[in-house]
Amino acid sequence: MPETSVSVTLLAHTPDPLALVYAAFRQCYFAGSVADMWPRLLKGEISRQKQAELVDRVMASGHTSPIEHVSFTFALSGVSRALTHQLVRHRIASYSQQSQRYVDATDFDYVIPPKIAANPEAKKLFTACMAQVGEAYTALKQLLEEGGSAKEDARFVLPQAAASRIVVTMNCRSLLNFFEHRTCMRAQWEIRDAAGKMLAICRDVLPEIFTAAGPRCERLGYCPEGSFSCGRFPARDAG
Ligand SMILES: Cc1cc2nc3c(=O)[nH]c(=O)nc-3n(C[C@H](O)[C@H](O)[C@H](O)COP(=O)(O)OP(=O)(O)OC[C@H]3O[C@@H](n4cnc5c(N)ncnc54)[C@H](O)[C@@H]3O)c2cc1C
Repeated sequence: MPETSVSVTLLAHTPDPLALVYAAFRQCYFAGSVADMWPRLLKGEISRQKQAELVDRVMASGHTSPIEHVSFTFALSGVSRALTHQLVRHRIASYSQQSQRYVDATDFDYVIPPKIAANPEAKKLFTACMAQVGEAYTALKQLLEEGGSAKEDARFVLPQAAASRIVVTMNCRSLLNFFEHRTCMRAQWEIRDAAGKMLAICRDVLPEIFTAAGPRCERLGYCPEGSFSCGRFPARDAG
């Protein structure tokens, strides 16, 4: 039953992401078809800086739907079910998660919250509990084997700490919203860790869109969390 921690891998992103966003923006204000300018864009005849300037200007006006044409797909592993439950609340996304009905969880991996890991007594209690759950899972599976749905029912004893794997695809607009919520200090530590790793990857691939991404306070210049503020920016209620 090994302990585990967040791992984020970029599986894929839309090819030529900046050119595609630029073309989508241009089409909104262009009498012709961007299909005609697309080969020039791919050849680099319209500079990256010129593309970035337009994207920046139009996004600042609140016209953000063209960035929905570009998406990123990540594989997350070593994350708890507590994390994935929060992640899938982001509805403008696609998910494929490792199934506890079909994948055996004997000797399941689990995530230990850092505060528990740092406290020897708490860690001892936590790991003993995981071992007990593992024994109960195995015993239940053996008792239910004849029914043919042993894993599906035995999994009911598995904890939120149980490690999971999930593939997630989000478009850029949804990612910006995800980062606003989940890189905020108010977000729970594990999903904040995953969001930070995803943001670093996005910034690498598409800095024109993601350099300024992050918690809402950085965009607003104040913290909308009121009394829950971490103190980085002056607190103000959202409205
Ligand atoms: C710090 C923190 C604490 C939280 N605590 C809780 C909690 O205690 N309990 C809880 O249930 N959730 C909680 N959440 C989850 C939160 O309420 C959102 O469900 C989650 O962050 C997904 O955000 P979203 O709806 O913006 O994302 P998405 O589902 O990806 O939606 C993106 C955007 O699309 C629009 N949208 C999507 N669906 C609708 C719709 N049906 N109607 C109108 N507009 C829509 C909205 O503008 C939304 O912002 C918490 C989140 C955070 C960050």
